[in-house]
Amino acid sequence: MSSIKPTETAAMAATGGASPEIRYTPAEIEPRWQQRWADQPDLYAAEPASSSKPKYYVLEMLPYPSGQLHMGHVRNYAIGDALARYMWMQGYNVLHPMGWDAFGLPAENAAIKNNTPPRAWTLSNIAAMKRQMNRIGLSYDWANEVTTCLPDYYKWNQWFFIRMFERGLAYRKKSKVNWCPKCCTVLANEQVINGRCWRHEDTIVEQRDLEQWFLRITDYAQELLDDLDKLEGWPEKVRTMQRNWIGRSEGAEIEFAVEDATHAPDDEYQHMRHKGTAVLPAVEGVKAIGSKIAVFTTRIDTIYGATSIQLAPEHPLVTEFAIANSELADQVNTLIDQQKQARESGDIGEIEKHGVFTGHYAISPFNGEHLPIWVANYILAEYGTGAIMSVPAHDERDYEFAQKYGIEMRVVILPRRTDEDDSNREQESMLPYTEEDSLLINSCEFSTLGNKEAQQKMTAFAEEKGFGKGKVTFRLRDWGVSRQRYWGTPIPMLYCEKDGIVAVPDDQLPVLLPDNVEITQEGGSPLAKLPEFVNATCPKCGGPARRETDTMDTFVDSSWYFYRYTNANNDKAPFDSVAAKYWFPIDQYIGGVEHAILHLIYSRFWTKVMRDLGLIKNDEPVERLFTQGMVIKNGAKMSKSKGNVVSPDDMIARYGADATRMYSLFAAPPDRDLDWQEDGVAGVSRFLGRVYRFVIKAVPGMRGPVTAKRNQLDAALATVLERKLHQTIHKITQDFAGRWHFNTSIAAIIEMLNLFSEHEDAIVNAVEADARARAIITNLVLLLSPFAPYLAAELWDQIGGTSVINKEPWPKADPDKMVELTIEIPVQVNGKLRAVVQVPKDADQEAMQKAVKNDPKVQASIADKEIVKVIVVPSKLVNIVVKG
Ligand SMILES: [Zn+2]
Ligand SMILES: [Zn+2]
Repeated sequence: MSSIKPTETAAMAATGGASPEIRYTPAEIEPRWQQRWADQPDLYAAEPASSSKPKYYVLEMLPYPSGQLHMGHVRNYAIGDALARYMWMQGYNVLHPMGWDAFGLPAENAAIKNNTPPRAWTLSNIAAMKRQMNRIGLSYDWANEVTTCLPDYYKWNQWFFIRMFERGLAYRKKSKVNWCPKCCTVLANEQVINGRCWRHEDTIVEQRDLEQWFLRITDYAQELLDDLDKLEGWPEKVRTMQRNWIGRSEGAEIEFAVEDATHAPDDEYQHMRHKGTAVLPAVEGVKAIGSKIAVFTTRIDTIYGATSIQLAPEHPLVTEFAIANSELADQVNTLIDQQKQARESGDIGEIEKHGVFTGHYAISPFNGEHLPIWVANYILAEYGTGAIMSVPAHDERDYEFAQKYGIEMRVVILPRRTDEDDSNREQESMLPYTEEDSLLINSCEFSTLGNKEAQQKMTAFAEEKGFGKGKVTFRLRDWGVSRQRYWGTPIPMLYCEKDGIVAVPDDQLPVLLPDNVEITQEGGSPLAKLPEFVNATCPKCGGPARRETDTMDTFVDSSWYFYRYTNANNDKAPFDSVAAKYWFPIDQYIGGVEHAILHLIYSRFWTKVMRDLGLIKNDEPVERLFTQGMVIKNGAKMSKSKGNVVSPDDMIARYGADATRMYSLFAAPPDRDLDWQEDGVAGVSRFLGRVYRFVIKAVPGMRGPVTAKRNQLDAALATVLERKLHQTIHKITQDFAGRWHFNTSIAAIIEMLNLFSEHEDAIVNAVEADARARAIITNLVLLLSPFAPYLAAELWDQIGGTSVINKEPWPKADPDKMVELTIEIPVQVNGKLRAVVQVPKDADQEAMQKAVKNDPKVQASIADKEIVKVIVVPSKLVNIVVKG
C-alpha cells in the first residue's frame, strides 16, 4: 500500500533510462484486447452440465438499466470478475452471467420527460451499459443474457403466477395501500416520504382499501426461518435481518367472551374498577353474549394481570357496539382518523395513544373476571387478531395507556432476581417490568410457577377447557404484487361475469405489454385506458371478459432470474431442470446489503415454490452471499445532488480499465466502504506501468530458445526470489479462499515487484537460460490476471503464451520454497544476551553450537574465558556458561 504514493516518479525515471521507449499505454492495449475478446464469443461460455469439471456459479446482482454504470457497480463487478477468472484458472466450469432488471418506474418517468417510449429508453440504456461493461473487460457469458422487460422472459413470470394461482398461492384480497391521488396509483412504503408522494411533494398520500393480488409467502414463513440456519455462507447480519423480518412469535390465542350488556356489573363495581382500587371477585351468573374476542399473546403467564381488553377501531365488534351508541360511534371515528393520519405520516409506532371505553366488558376465561373493553388507536386491525389483553404492569405500551386513563395495574410476576432489594419489587414506581425469567404471583393455582412452565400449563389448560390454543404468529405479511403501472409484467388474469377470476391459458402467454401507450402517470394504470387490451374473451365460456390491468411488482422479475441464466434461450420452459440441477445453488452471490430483506427473501420463497412445483431440487438459491461495502467520496455516498459522483468512463479514459477496477479492489477490504481517491487510481496505474516495463524487458529472453547455461541466477538470490514468489502465491490463494481481502493480495504483489525490481538486471539477463527466472516472470503475469486482465493478457501474449490466460492453471505455492531457511537464535553468555546468530532452520544441537561459537560477537564475549557448559534449547536459545 505504501509503495504507490502519488509522488513516486524516481523509479520510473531510473528504469526509463535504459529503455525510454517502453511505455504502458492502457488506451492502446485495452481496446485492442477488447476487440480480440469480442471476436471469441465462447471465451467466457460455461461448459454444459455434462462437463466433468467441478462447477462454480458466481453471480453479481443484475443492475437496473439506468444508462450509466456507477462506481458501486464497478466495485461489485470487479469482485465477481476476479473470482470468476480465479475459479477458471483453478480448473472449474464457471458460470458467470449478466442481465438487466429492466422493468420499473424510472422508464416511465423518462418517457414523460424525454418523450421516449419506455421500451426504447430501456433498450438503449442496456446497450450503453453493456458497452461500459465490455470496456471494463468483465468476463460475462453474454449468450445467456437475461432482459426482464422482454416477452421471452416475462412470459415465465406470468406462467409462474398462474401456477401459483392454481395452488392458492396467488390470491386477491382487499388491503390498505398508500395511494397518491395525483399519480392515481399505489405507492410502495419507500415512495412515501414524510407522508407525501415522492413525485408530488405537495400531495399527501392517502390510505385506501383496494383489491390487490398477493403471493402467499406466509405459507413458507416457518421454512424461510428454519432454513436460515443452513445458510452458513451468508453474513450473519443478513440472516439476523431476515429473522427479524419474518418475526416469529410463539404464544397462545385466548378467547374472551363478551358480557351481555343487560347484565352489566353494578355501579360500585365499575367505580372501583376504574379507580383501580380493588381486585374484584368474579361476578357469578353473568352470561356472555354470543360474541367472543380472540386475543393473541406471547405472555399468557401474565393473563391474571390483564385489566382491560383493547380493540382496534376497525374491529368488527367495535362496529357492532357503535351501531347501538352514536356517541361511541363519533369517538371511534376520531380514533380511526388519528390512526389514518399516523399511518400516512409513516410511523404508526409513534402514534400518541388515545382510547375510549365502550361500556362493555369481557370475561376472563381463567377466573371469570370482568375486563372493560376499550377501543384504542394504537391497535391495528390487520395485525394479529386486532385485539389485545392489556397487562399494564408488565408491558410498556399497556402501561402508558393505563396510566393515561387510570386503568388498574396488577403485578402478577416477580423477577427472579437475587441481587436487588425484595421490598422494591412490588412498588409501582418500578413498573412496568417484563422479565422473561420470573415467578407468578396473584395467579390462583398457577402462582409460584416459573413463567416458562406457567406458559405451558396455562396454554394446556386453555386447550383443555376449549377457550384457547397454542399459536405461532409471524410478522411476515403476504407479498402484495399489484402495481397500477405500465412498465411491468401484465398479470395474466381475466374477469368474467359468469366465471369470476379466470387465468389466461398457457398457450395464450405471454400477455404482451402493448407498445402504443400514453404514459401520464396520472389517472391510474395506462393499460386500463386501452380497450383493445382490456377487452378479452373468457376461455371458459367464450363470453366477454375484462383483462387485469395491474402489472407485477418488479421484485417478481429478480426473484428467479438467475435460474434463467442457465438456459436463457429456452422457449419451452422457464429453464431446463437438468441444467438448473447442475448449477444450483449459486456458489457465490455478490451484491449490496440493501437487498438483504426484500430481494433475498422473495427469491428464497420463489425457489421453494419452484421446488414444490417439481422444477428444481435445491431448497435454497444461494450457498454463499457476499455484501460489498459502498463507494463513497469525501465521506459521503456518491450522488448527483452532492456533486461527488466519479464517472467510471472518466477514470477509464485517464488511467485505463485495469487501474480503475484494480483500485476498487485495492483501496479497501471488499466488505468495507471505499472512499474514492483519484490519487490512488493514478498510483495503481503507475504500478501497472512498472509491471509492464519489467516484463517487457524480459520479453526477448522469454521468447528466445534456451540456448546456453550462461547468465544463471545466483543460487542465493534465486532462493530469496523464489521464496517471495511462493509466499505471494500462497497468500493470494488464501485470500481467494478466505475473506477476499484483495487489498492485501494486491499489496503482496506490489511488495513482490519491489523485490524483483531491486534485482531487475539479474532476472532479465537470466530468463533465457534459467527456468527460475522465467517462472518469476510468468507467475507475476498469472497472479495479476484476476485483477488486471487486460495487462495480463497483453503480457502473456508478449512473453509467448499461446493459450488464453484465464484458462491457464493458477500457480501453485511450493511449501518447500516458501519456508525461511534460517532462524535467528539469541545467544546468552552467563545469562546475558550477547548476540543474535543466524542458524539453518533444521540445525541440530551440534550445528547450533558450532554456528554460535563461530560468531565474532560471541567469540569476543567469551575470549580468554573457560567454557564450563553450553545449554542449547533447539530452535530457541543458546546459553554459554563461562568462568574466569
Ligand atoms: Zn404522486
Ligand atoms: Zn366466462
